[in-house]
Amino acid sequence: MIHLINVIGARPQIIKAAAIHRAIANHFREQIREVIVHTGQHYDHNMSRVFFEELGIPQEDVNLEVGSLSHAKQTAAIMTRMEDLLLEGKPDAVVVYGDTNSTLAASLAAAKIHIPVIHIEAGLRSFNKTMPEEINRLVCDQVSTLLFAPTKTAVDNLVHEGFEIESGKPYSIDRPGIFLSGDVMFDNTLYFGTLAEQHEGKLNTFGLRKGEYALVTIHRDNNTDDPRRLSQIFQGILELSETAQLRCLVPLHPRTAKILNSSFNEDLLKNIRNSRWIRITEPLSFLEMSLCEKYARIVLTDSGGVQKEAFFHRKPCVILRSETEWVEIVASGTAALADADSRKIVELSLGFLKNPPQEFPAFFGEGDSAGFICRKIIDSF
Ligand code: UDP
Repeated sequence: MIHLINVIGARPQIIKAAAIHRAIANHFREQIREVIVHTGQHYDHNMSRVFFEELGIPQEDVNLEVGSLSHAKQTAAIMTRMEDLLLEGKPDAVVVYGDTNSTLAASLAAAKIHIPVIHIEAGLRSFNKTMPEEINRLVCDQVSTLLFAPTKTAVDNLVHEGFEIESGKPYSIDRPGIFLSGDVMFDNTLYFGTLAEQHEGKLNTFGLRKGEYALVTIHRDNNTDDPRRLSQIFQGILELSETAQLRCLVPLHPRTAKILNSSFNEDLLKNIRNSRWIRITEPLSFLEMSLCEKYARIVLTDSGGVQKEAFFHRKPCVILRSETEWVEIVASGTAALADADSRKIVELSLGFLKNPPQEFPAFFGEGDSAGFICRKIIDSF
């Protein structure tokens, strides 16, 4: 029996961990024992707890309760608490997801005491080291023993950085195993997309009709923490909604909500609040989000996960960043980079509304990434 500590902390990690948990519970109970550790990085009900209930993940075994802190303080707090836990629990490996401070801290704490790190969503690069996430990814990949890359591009990035693809067993931090696994978020979309259909009636509660609205999310700190960028984005959404007479649903991340309510352009905020087209809500649950993605006409986002989910649901996506780790969706013409430029946001969106993309190639695997990852873990330890 392999003993894994599965580390979650932020919303997207809880969602990714759900796919692994489902695979273990359904197929690998006899081989893998999973202990869930929540770092407490996200703690609001609608950023954390709601996902456990909906995605069928058991209550975490341990919560490190670090809460919201500066990058260094948060990383340090997670590392300190994680080290004690690892020394006590002595797992065979630690599983980390994505690119948050929880990913960075847990992987450093584990690697320093020689506990193998398994990184799910390895090899992604934005090539923009001003993003805290880019630093987290780079460091985590360097100290991992098994690296599960969701796309061919992610594998190529690792190869360019000097990782050796053919290093056979036994894997170690110095000779890690690199695998093209597909994307566990695609597993989730397939699994929950059908479930979301059963809640179709809920679109009414948001004042939306199938295929007649844009779904918008904004939460990256270089957008929220820069008043000029945030104003440009909202200006673009306002103009787009009026020009195309398109309803826009904007479920707001707590960080974005805080900025809007404290230090945002007052006139623009008034226009947004008075707009008959724009509806701002609390963060959605995953099923609500899947439903809104499934029936949107277009998605505008700076989220990594939401970009991909737009693609999984075959929707065009305007990316509110200057670059993306998910380069294949841009190269295939199903998504476009508008950065925080109101003119580009409007133009690119209108282009997609007029000519929606038709081809969404299978860049992200077949929908059984979690099964693949579990089999490789069992085979490797
Ligand atoms: N998500 C959600 N409710 C929301 C916004 C996002 O359930 O109101 C989900 C979304 O479907 C995706 C994940 O959160 O699965 C993406 O997380 P986020 O945008 O916070 O982070 P990122 O992917 O950029 O790291």
